[in-house]
Amino acid sequence: MSGLLIDGKGFASGLRDRVGLAVSGLSAAGIVPGLAVVLVGEDPASQVYVRSKGRQTVEAGMRSFEHRLPDTCSQTELLALVAQLNADASVHGILVQLPLPAQIDAAAVIEAIDPAKDVDGFHPVNAGRLATGQDALVPCTPLGCLLMLRDQLGDLSGLEAVVIGRSNIVGKPMAQLLLRESCTVTVAHSRTRDLPGTVRRADIVVAAVGRPRMVTGDWIKPGATVIDVGINRVPAPDKGEGATRLVGDCDFDSCAAVAGAITPVPGGVGPMTIACLLANTVVAAARAHGQPVPD
Ligand code: NDP
Repeated sequence: MSGLLIDGKGFASGLRDRVGLAVSGLSAAGIVPGLAVVLVGEDPASQVYVRSKGRQTVEAGMRSFEHRLPDTCSQTELLALVAQLNADASVHGILVQLPLPAQIDAAAVIEAIDPAKDVDGFHPVNAGRLATGQDALVPCTPLGCLLMLRDQLGDLSGLEAVVIGRSNIVGKPMAQLLLRESCTVTVAHSRTRDLPGTVRRADIVVAAVGRPRMVTGDWIKPGATVIDVGINRVPAPDKGEGATRLVGDCDFDSCAAVAGAITPVPGGVGPMTIACLLANTVVAAARAHGQPVPD
């Protein structure tokens, strides 16, 4: 590979240290940030994420509140829990783990969360604030991507950025964040004509598609920075029968041969997402108590 590997794991560890310092500062003022995570059902991947979030929250010196509801839980029950957490002064951040069971309208649940406690940044008020350039709680995955890009490239102003994917949780907020940095932003999606040609213009490529190894090295402008958000589990017969491995939306080897810098999967964007969740919780706690918001 010729491109520099962007070490998301190391970067996330540094961010968690900075969060820990900010938590100490708030604790000295008598404020202990608290994060409530709500898990509905038994989805194994969600259980792993929730456990990891709880552990890292406590390690950062914050309070972690975990609420588990059965997958038969009704929307009314879940909304009642959200209302209780909205009213609880020791809870500064609320995260309802997605996906939710079919009987529950996820949009209604997200809208029920107090926007000031919406540390996932999915509430329409936060999406609108981000889009209109106001202080917002920003979705964790794109925020993590932006922090890595700034660290890698410094000033992003004037760069061509292509975001592949337009979901509310990754693609759209990523595009807003890059626009805020004065990039020239193109948002590509499944109807984009000539996706390879579009991506080839980019100084910054953010792939958030959910298609294993879709972006190949011949799509990448030499020297471009590639952020691979995708997490896809694929068969890995070389590791034994029935074995699997995680790969990104970019074909790592061919992209790394052309890119200036690239995030690996795993170990790139993934670790940054939880670190940004902790950072958002500190921001929410500081704002709730009229304290200065840490950088
Ligand atoms: P969604 O499925 O919500 O969105 C995927 C987007 O990709 C859509 O906008 C879709 O276009 C577009 N797309 C699909 N196929 C193509 C194609 N052939 N060409 C161009 N665009 C295409 O996914 P998410 O945004 O939720 O997640 C994207 C990926 O990121 C997934 O792999 C997910 O696992 C991963 N992820 C990783 C996180 C992390 O912490 N690292 C966190 C969140 C997600 P259209 O809108 O037209 O359908």
